[in-house]
Amino acid sequence: MPMPGLAGGRGTAEALRPLVDTVCGALAEGARDRGGPVPRGGPEGVARLVDQAAPDVLPLAGTGEHEALATLVHLMAAGAADPADALCAAHLHCPPLAVAAAADLAASALNPSMDSWDQAPAASALEARVTAALATLVYPDLPAPDALVTTGGTESNQLALLLARERAAGGPRVQVVCGANAHHSVQRAAWLLGLPQPIVLDTPAGVLDPAAVATALDQLPGRPLVVATAGTTDSGAIDPLPAIAHATGRHGAELHVDAAYGGPLLFSSREAAKLDGLQSAVSVTLDLHKLGWQPVAAGLLAVPDGTALRPLAHQADYLNATDDTEAGLPDLLGRSLRTTRRPDVLKLAVTLRALGREGVADLVDRVCDLAADLADRIERHPALTLHAPPAISTVLFRPTAATDEETAELRRRLLHEGRAVLGRARAGGRLWLKATLLNPHLRPDDLDTLLNLTTEGTTAR
Ligand SMILES: *Cc1c(COP(=O)(O)O)cnc(C)c1O
Repeated sequence: MPMPGLAGGRGTAEALRPLVDTVCGALAEGARDRGGPVPRGGPEGVARLVDQAAPDVLPLAGTGEHEALATLVHLMAAGAADPADALCAAHLHCPPLAVAAAADLAASALNPSMDSWDQAPAASALEARVTAALATLVYPDLPAPDALVTTGGTESNQLALLLARERAAGGPRVQVVCGANAHHSVQRAAWLLGLPQPIVLDTPAGVLDPAAVATALDQLPGRPLVVATAGTTDSGAIDPLPAIAHATGRHGAELHVDAAYGGPLLFSSREAAKLDGLQSAVSVTLDLHKLGWQPVAAGLLAVPDGTALRPLAHQADYLNATDDTEAGLPDLLGRSLRTTRRPDVLKLAVTLRALGREGVADLVDRVCDLAADLADRIERHPALTLHAPPAISTVLFRPTAATDEETAELRRRLLHEGRAVLGRARAGGRLWLKATLLNPHLRPDDLDTLLNLTTEGTTAR
């Protein structure tokens, strides 16, 4: 077998391009063979597909580059829950833009590693500019906001709690206060960082009650950290940020906003006001692999001033020797807790440049409009009940006559039959079907198809 070619350098055109052709062909064929949003047959059906396509995943002799790509990429596509399919709408799992995926290919080919300048010269300089620009979207009135690139909301929330812990160093430990609607990663971060268990406030209305926040803070010493959510995972609800910011400010507490889902509303002049109050936060979590149409991973943690990130500074001679730093080589270690790190910024930079802020805003507006349209259709539907008007692009609904058990069973049946991927969420003591609309290409027909699937008896696809 010939030596495998390299992705980068002068070999790119000869080595990579034909392989990319094979990949594109296999993606298209796999999607066609799947024929729906998800393969039929549930876990057993998928296990059979995998065993048939890849009976030996560690062969002694290789099958060659094109065969391996054609077979396994086809398998992945044929067996995917494909967020680009109109009927795949369960999670905050977005269909990535082609332009972002193409940029990510370049990131893989060049393979800059963001832990030292001599591994990522242009990538680190580009990252500094893109993070500053995105931080300015969050904190438009401040002179030097900054942001870190993370693997997503989980890591961003962890970093936010770590920074709060470090700000409180020497004093009492930071007590986190959050709503029952907060993401599970807030609890885990407190556990990981050795902080007291968060105080979790009930959110019967789906959002944090500022009065309940104030009451909780009244009983707490020190400088608690309130975590509010702008776009809950379950329903997309946005906590009343101005009132919560007011309550935290009055008590001398700090506010972190988890805007993993809702953050990109900032791009849209029509939707941005929903995030008023965000600027009061000491840190803000954003995910562009949700409402930002990026391939995973594309997380951010924004802070009002770059100096807030100082606690993350760290020194290791092989990456940022002091004399190198003094001689002017940028020190990247304080930009993450990870060491080797992908240049996830490239796909972001390419997307922002290709679409512009207006182009991203248009996609945001579209999915919000689609959710409003879906909610209207549900309200008018005689057999369906809407939970509440959507705050962003998540719609909770259920067949009016169904019990919670029947609703859960319906969701599993649609998944097993490969007909639709819908999520589930509890709200107001009931179980709801969840449609998280992140596909800007959806048409009104698709919305009707989705609803019909939840009201009809099932027939073979
Ligand atoms: C998705 C989500 C997270 C976690 O983000 P990951 O990118 O999955 O790590 C955190 N908070 C909220 C509100 C989310 O919706």
